[in-house]
Amino acid sequence: MNFEFTQEQNQFAETVRRFAQDHLAAGALKRAHDPRFPFDVAQLMAEQGLMGITLPQSDGGQGGSLLDAVIAIEQIASVCPRSADVVQFGNFGPIRTFAEYGTPRQKARWLGDLLGGRMVMSLGMTEPDAGSALTDLKTSARADGADYVINGSKVFSTFSPDAQIFLVYVRFGPGVSGIGSLIVERGAPGFTIGAPAAFMSDEEWCELHFNDCRVAADNVLLGPGGFKKQMAGFNVERLGNTARSLAYGRFAFNAARDYAATRRQFDRLLCEFQGLQWKFADMAIKLDAAQLLLYRAAVNADRGLPSAYETAIAKAACNQAGFEAASEAVQIMGALGYSRETLVEYCMRRTRGWMIAGGSIEMLKNRIAEHVFDRRFDQRKRPSD
Ligand SMILES: Cc1cc2nc3c(=O)[nH]c(=O)nc-3n(C[C@H](O)[C@H](O)[C@H](O)COP(=O)(O)OP(=O)(O)OC[C@H]3O[C@@H](n4cnc5c(N)ncnc54)[C@H](O)[C@@H]3O)c2cc1C
Repeated sequence: MNFEFTQEQNQFAETVRRFAQDHLAAGALKRAHDPRFPFDVAQLMAEQGLMGITLPQSDGGQGGSLLDAVIAIEQIASVCPRSADVVQFGNFGPIRTFAEYGTPRQKARWLGDLLGGRMVMSLGMTEPDAGSALTDLKTSARADGADYVINGSKVFSTFSPDAQIFLVYVRFGPGVSGIGSLIVERGAPGFTIGAPAAFMSDEEWCELHFNDCRVAADNVLLGPGGFKKQMAGFNVERLGNTARSLAYGRFAFNAARDYAATRRQFDRLLCEFQGLQWKFADMAIKLDAAQLLLYRAAVNADRGLPSAYETAIAKAACNQAGFEAASEAVQIMGALGYSRETLVEYCMRRTRGWMIAGGSIEMLKNRIAEHVFDRRFDQRKRPSD
């Protein structure tokens, strides 16, 4: 067991940090308050080799490891939290499923633009009546000649105001084995994108409506039975949300530490008050513990053993540690921390959302409990209940 990065990993972290300081430090606050996807940052990152870090070079990726992608999120977020969303998009989001299962024609058509930072893709899974119980989704896709006809609605899709393509989970038939996915382009006949609504984080999402929406059969990503494959990939995708939670918590921790080391009240530095020292100690304990869980999940996934348990425990720990650190940082920095003039309140709002998105804390704990008892607990109401 070794708790140190390799020399290459240290060098990579240093290079990414320098890139972030040179190109992203200026404008970090403004970027955080702009709901539009930062395509300029995505294109800079593409030039820097930060998109598709884990994808094979044959797909236009970098052939690196998942831990490299986690390191990239940590380093970018430590300078410009909002820009870490681009690392997430280019390495952890639906782009992974797309690169893994896309046909050569689909990849030739879209992957270059996605990895080049010229196009963003949105993920349409959640429906008004299918949130945590995702397998209740109703959006249907029916074969019709050389096309599929889609009917249904999706909600809460991140990046939907800016996306050109949407990876949409649909029902080709009944049951879990009837679920698969296809790609729908903005502008497809019968596809309507609603007006943007805002999350607490100010990120925007749109309702997606499919009314006899017609797409070519060529756009099917995973046909019936594809859901299990997609969920296996989702275990790894979750680590992007996990890594950002932790990185935002650290950003806020560092900002509060620097503030407490210089701000005076009662003729003393804030860091000299024990009540605040213990807050920092508690934050450090939680952040360091969560970081080890994140690295364990990423390293084992790199070794070919992505574990739903390790991912769940890492995400729950990082979601909680990140939010608690950000919230305490706001408290420590007083009214300034609560103000939009600093990024700590932004980190608090963003980390709060990740406790719900990508597998809520409660659903993760259900998964962890299944591991503890080595049995499956069906969440569905039984006829006898
Ligand atoms: C910031 C953000 C970004 C998102 N991005 C996307 C996106 O890009 N694409 C997309 O499709 N969706 C996205 N979502 C939606 C997200 O996937 C859902 O919010 C999530 O699946 C939970 O569904 P729900 O909000 O409908 O809550 P519900 O499922 O209605 O749950 C409500 C509450 O009950 C709890 N609960 C539910 N079932 C159980 C149970 N069995 N045991 C214990 N507790 C339970 C939940 O944990 C939650 O606290 C995003 C959400 C957020 C907050």
